[in-house]
Amino acid sequence: MRPSATSRRALTPAEFLDELRKRGVRRVNCVRYRDNRSTVWSLTQRGTVLNVHIAFRAATRSILDAFAVLAREGGVRSPASSRAAEKVSDWPELARAMEAARRRHHRDQSENGSATHCCGTPGQREYLRAVYDYFNQTRFDGALPPDIPVRLSRRMRSALGHMLPGIRRDGTRYVVEIALNVDLMLSGNGAERTDTLLHEMAHAADWLESGSQGHGDSWREWARRVGCRPDTLYDRPVRFRRRRRDPVERVPPLPPALRGRKNGKRRHGQSQPKAPAVRHA
Ligand SMILES: [Zn+2]
Repeated sequence: MRPSATSRRALTPAEFLDELRKRGVRRVNCVRYRDNRSTVWSLTQRGTVLNVHIAFRAATRSILDAFAVLAREGGVRSPASSRAAEKVSDWPELARAMEAARRRHHRDQSENGSATHCCGTPGQREYLRAVYDYFNQTRFDGALPPDIPVRLSRRMRSALGHMLPGIRRDGTRYVVEIALNVDLMLSGNGAERTDTLLHEMAHAADWLESGSQGHGDSWREWARRVGCRPDTLYDRPVRFRRRRRDPVERVPPLPPALRGRKNGKRRHGQSQPKAPAVRHA
């Protein structure tokens, strides 16, 4: 019998780190497993902490090789790190684990009788809907479904946003949700807010079009097309709320082209806002 990923012995975080060390990784001194529905991997704390989805505890040798490349490059984009990033995000075991986590999450939610939790106020939700529709029309040529849920999350710490990919039972792809860190609604975070939303919408378009989940060539092509930064950075100069329990109720001003109009429908001949150059994870 061939060993499957599920029967492969799981590595502890320390053993995972050991495997990286054997492959010449020096900077990373801590590996953390993340059991959520969106983190594939990230390097935080100036490249010293590698966060990976818990599915990677069953990583094969070649996946460990790829992580070693990513850790050695310390988040800097190079042809080798791009190939490695694509390899880990396209690992089939990861997609299966994320889909299982998503199903569990949805089952829990339907048992609790609530939709995916959005901590936003009605005004904030209306804002997100209007800006999503606006970007879908002006940057994506309406390529995205109009009804992808866009919500705010107050639980994100190092992340600014995520796109949750889904696969229906008939095998077709869809987008479960786009979520943004609620801190992005704070005053002074306008450029990051715009860039993050476009970044996640580019993930949505990439997932629906090509089935890719990472920051590979097809995602970067979307990023360039729609005008968000085509890269990933995890240490950003974003303003965060002072205490995590503080509510964020601010509704940012709409893009100039949408102001003074109800429901944010597009007028033809509208000029596009200039793409801001900001950093994003
Ligand atoms: Zn991303």
